[in-house]
Amino acid sequence: RFVDLHRSTWVEIDLNAIAYNINTIKNKMPNHTKVIAVVKADGYGHGSIPVAKKALDSGAEALAVALLEEALELRDAGITAPILVLGWVPPASAIIAAEQNITLTFFQQEWIQQVNTYSFTKPLKLHLKLDSGMGRIGIRTEEELHAILYALNKNSSIYLTGVYTHFATADEPESTYFDVQKKRFERGLSLLQDNWNGNLDIHIGNSASAIRLPEGMYNYIRFGIAMYGLYPSKAVKEQGDIELKQAFSLHSQLVHVKQIQAGDSISYGCTYTAKKEEWIGTIPIGYGDGWLRKMQGFSILINGKRMPIVGRICMDQTMVRLDRAYPVETKVTFIGHQNDAFIPMDEVSEYAETINYEIPCVINKRIPRIYK
Ligand code: PLP
Repeated sequence: RFVDLHRSTWVEIDLNAIAYNINTIKNKMPNHTKVIAVVKADGYGHGSIPVAKKALDSGAEALAVALLEEALELRDAGITAPILVLGWVPPASAIIAAEQNITLTFFQQEWIQQVNTYSFTKPLKLHLKLDSGMGRIGIRTEEELHAILYALNKNSSIYLTGVYTHFATADEPESTYFDVQKKRFERGLSLLQDNWNGNLDIHIGNSASAIRLPEGMYNYIRFGIAMYGLYPSKAVKEQGDIELKQAFSLHSQLVHVKQIQAGDSISYGCTYTAKKEEWIGTIPIGYGDGWLRKMQGFSILINGKRMPIVGRICMDQTMVRLDRAYPVETKVTFIGHQNDAFIPMDEVSEYAETINYEIPCVINKRIPRIYK
């Protein structure tokens, strides 16, 4: 099917689903609230460059990543849209960020003091991070705010262009902590605005916050998981009135099919033994691809029907019990649609006792991504 592939396992990314999800959220947001497409961790495993390009074509105004390396990859791919790095970068990296017009996040007085000592040939743009209760990065006190603003006035190439925070519980049904964080941010913002002239991009919301409180999102939302068509949580799916399309699907093929007899065992440790004559298929995917060993017993789609994974998942291969003989190269779907059947990402993540965010991230580069 894909003549340039020598393996028959692939991820399909439906870029139209990305466009659909962006349009869906934009229709819910007031006009003044724009979309930053979050494409860190290689676009949550979907491929940062194709996702970023599609997101920008579909109405996103800017991009966000976690690392400066991730931003540079986007610039190398010819993407000129604004990019914000959400994580800490070493002060010395500010020089290359400025050269490439990449906005950095900052929150430490010592950091800005160090960066002040550099001479820049292009402006360095910074967003200030307020820690309103996530407890990860950001300033937490008024003293820190004053100290940082004092240090900021010392280099004319450095511009404060934005301020933001991040919620810890936006995806939970209970809103008390969310409200506390929002109040703390509002207070930090008003202190900042009392002490700083100039336009600021203000953004507080991830997918869950945007779905939950579209009117309260200031200038931007940082739209991650829902852009990929995945709900931030069950609560958001049930309470938020938004329909998303999953962009990611994972497929392979049967590469060997055989009949075994009652008493025959399958895979390491012989954890599965047939009780009667059975058909067994072998599929070239394993935990070396990020298809977790924990997925033993999960059901996958063949011929539009669910069939159970039997025996331990190996590094490169997985076995499935078939309802009859199928030809070699029959399609197998682990995540996504096959005929009228569907395996949602959420079902995989629940079985693996994790969140949907983690699954496409851990399905690694050994499995090629094909874009439709
Ligand atoms: N903003 C920040 C600071 C983040 O760390 C993340 C992702 O974890 C996002 C936004 C996007 O969040 P989500 O994928 O839940 O929309």
